[in-house]
Amino acid sequence: MNSVKEIAKEVKLISGQNVFACYQCGRCSSACPMTEEMDLLPNQIIRLVQMSDDAVLSSVTPWICASCLDCTIRCPRGIDVAKVMEAIRQLSIRRGIEKREELVRNFKEMDELPQILLVSAFRKYTG
Ligand code: SF4
Ligand code: SF4
Repeated sequence: MNSVKEIAKEVKLISGQNVFACYQCGRCSSACPMTEEMDLLPNQIIRLVQMSDDAVLSSVTPWICASCLDCTIRCPRGIDVAKVMEAIRQLSIRRGIEKREELVRNFKEMDELPQILLVSAFRKYTG
């Protein structure tokens, strides 16, 4: 099975979003409050999904995402970027390459994290 085509297809199936509408304006990334902790910016994640690049499943970005929806609100192409992040998390779990344990181990500054991230993380870790 060619994983290249599978990633874009599966993300679309899970999220219902058409990532191919993205024209890389970067508004999602400029709106995102979590970029300092991310290894790839949200617009780069969308691009990797478009290309069905396996690297998207190894990125910590979807796990850092706080599901705040700022990107979703600002996307001029109507892409729900937060839903795409959620789809990537689900796909990563299905493929056994998720980042949850690694992130929890590395997070020493829990007190400084925004509350919305903790709520989002709770959903991720229990959903
Ligand atoms: S939903 Fe996630 S990717 Fe989008 S702006 Fe919020 S933290 Fe960033
Ligand atoms: S805001 Fe929308 S169109 Fe612009 S880079 Fe992000 S996903 Fe693509």
